[in-house]
Amino acid sequence: MASVETVNGPVDLEELGVTLVHEHFRVTDEAARFQFPHLYDEAAEWEAAMSDANAVKGHGVRTVVEPSAMFLNRDAAFSKRVADESGLNVVLATGVYTYEHLPQILMNRTEDELAEIFVHDIEEGIQGTGIKAAFIKCAADEPGVTPNIEKVHRAAARASLQTGRPIMAHSHPKSGTGLEQMRVFAEEGVDAGKVQVAHTGDTDDLGYIERLLDTGCWIGMDRYGLDIYLPTEQRQTTVLALLEKGHAERMFLSQDYCSTLDYFTPEVAEQLAATAAANWSMTFLFEQVIPELKERGMTDEQLDQMMVENPKRWLA
Ligand SMILES: [Zn+2]
Repeated sequence: MASVETVNGPVDLEELGVTLVHEHFRVTDEAARFQFPHLYDEAAEWEAAMSDANAVKGHGVRTVVEPSAMFLNRDAAFSKRVADESGLNVVLATGVYTYEHLPQILMNRTEDELAEIFVHDIEEGIQGTGIKAAFIKCAADEPGVTPNIEKVHRAAARASLQTGRPIMAHSHPKSGTGLEQMRVFAEEGVDAGKVQVAHTGDTDDLGYIERLLDTGCWIGMDRYGLDIYLPTEQRQTTVLALLEKGHAERMFLSQDYCSTLDYFTPEVAEQLAATAAANWSMTFLFEQVIPELKERGMTDEQLDQMMVENPKRWLA
């Protein structure tokens, strides 16, 4: 029986159940956190993470994939505590989340040397915990696939080839990065069926999305509630159109919610929470998105495909 690595060791694929494929229990800057710890409130962070973990559990979620990597304050011990206290399966990644900058320690290494670092997390464990990464994360955003970004993608590809593990690639559809990212993976010989192009749902350009699907990759319709990138109504119309075209087998629904996010001062965060991200939460899918998709024609079978079957198939 195939299994997937979680913070509590390998779990049978059949045990994953309803899976949120892209959520974060805490996102903070690692350097700022180390240098200026007075800006952070650990107790509040813990409370926020547990409140979300318990809330999604209440909606029947059994597994949360947390694609944090370097620069998102991936913290295997923290994620394990969330899993232990809530009873959820939590699946972690290795990789680097950057749009351009790489520290010298990574810049002065080859793609193969970088790949070796990722393989370590997959085979030995993350941060000395023995918790193994289940997949590899990389990112391209507005600056595009620059030389540094290409290097991380090639390293992710080589780690995937060596271990058989899937890849999640953060993308920026408005700059069309998904196709560029898939080109790099193809050049490296990665099977497109191993790659999930995250944040594809930030566009309603069906032409672009279908060109991406033609490569054979998975797509993340995974930022529900982030109206700042694309309003919910447009996300819904896009998902329904793709379902109609028979793409349920290639899509994921998620929210990319962050129980804690340190990007903004508390004042600005409060303002955003009242405006451009008013609906953003770890339960928005269950409270509004899914009921509305059902009303507008999504079948139970399609929902099960996206929330249960696809995560299993991608992670396997
Ligand atoms: Zn994310």
